[in-house]
Amino acid sequence: MQPGSTNYIEYEPIGIVGAITPWNYPMTNAAGKIAPALATGNAVILKPAEDSPLSALLLAWIAHQAGLPAGLLCVLNGPGELIGEAIVRHPLIGKINFTGSTSVGRRIGGIAGGLLKSVTLELGGKTGFMVFADADLERAADALVYSAFNNVGQTCTAGSRLLVEAAVAERFAEMIVSRLSLLRIGDPLDPDTQFGPAISARQKDDVLRRIADADRDGIRRLAMARFPLPAEGYYLAPTVFLDVDPAHAVAQEEVFGPVVAVTPFSDIDEAIAIANGTRYGLATTVWTGSVMTAGRIARQARSGIVWVNTVHSLYPGSPYGGHKDSGMGVEMGEEAVRNHMKSKSVWINDGSWRSPWA
Ligand code: NAP
Repeated sequence: MQPGSTNYIEYEPIGIVGAITPWNYPMTNAAGKIAPALATGNAVILKPAEDSPLSALLLAWIAHQAGLPAGLLCVLNGPGELIGEAIVRHPLIGKINFTGSTSVGRRIGGIAGGLLKSVTLELGGKTGFMVFADADLERAADALVYSAFNNVGQTCTAGSRLLVEAAVAERFAEMIVSRLSLLRIGDPLDPDTQFGPAISARQKDDVLRRIADADRDGIRRLAMARFPLPAEGYYLAPTVFLDVDPAHAVAQEEVFGPVVAVTPFSDIDEAIAIANGTRYGLATTVWTGSVMTAGRIARQARSGIVWVNTVHSLYPGSPYGGHKDSGMGVEMGEEAVRNHMKSKSVWINDGSWRSPWA
């Protein structure tokens, strides 16, 4: 410290934050963006996805009823290419907090970089879900089915790549079949429903196209009893591909539907190599009875989240974000709060300062 000087740091709000959210989990995604922005003194303009535009309006109405001053939270509906991009480019919006696909995130990151604008990107994922022979296999099977088929697989952290130790692969597949046959299929508005339809005809068609590509390449499917789907609605049957080459598209690309690619592994080195072998790096899941295995995978996983003997655990105080093509920056945790503020280093001298040249 300079003699006669004092220095302190002020943290100021950025100003206006543009929050752009995807159609899956619209409330959670919006809340995760609004909370740190408002808590640090910013105003928010929220653009929800056109496929799920209404809950954001309800959330803003509830905030208004709860006494949030007018103008601190505005919802702007409209198509991403038009409204979303206008938000990203607007000179008075100082930060963009985006959740969505890697392709749109890359575009937004490019524009924000050109404008020297702060940006947080929460993007796609392809979670490697590892099951070792020493795991509690019953619980691991419950976890895989919940992780991969909850919200019909339309989850960025869905356990869509099942890596299972070869010695138990066949037994584990049978456990999955028995659990899938018990899923309660039906109306998504019924609280008892576990497995509803896809969000849209477009999403359903996209998933079916990816399944057809894997079928065409001769990848074997896990045999299941007929899955009774409702006649109306964009329903998709759960699909599990077996013995998938880790380089195949169905093991590499985000399907965003109820599709799991299973690849057996022989040892921990192979499991880690396969789990890390995609362009994504959002989450890694491991089921094992060995603390040494868990610790080694936690250290070597190239992802922003690692779940050991659990899935989809979240806590607002813990950072949530992806490595590699799964994003930049985090939501939640202290880091998310910090990145909604600008720091200012203030120096005040008591009058004793003299130029070194004087
Ligand atoms: P998306 O197509 O990338 O859209 C996301 C949002 O961006 C929507 O509001 C969309 O608007 C808007 N948008 C589209 N083009 C834009 C542009 N050029 N400029 C600005 N905004 C634009 O993603 P999605 O299909 O809605 O959501 C699925 C994806 O989100 C998956 O990849 C999933 O993994 C990812 N996701 C990631 C996380 C995470 O935390 N990492 C969480 C949930 C979902 P419109 O749709 O209204 O056109």
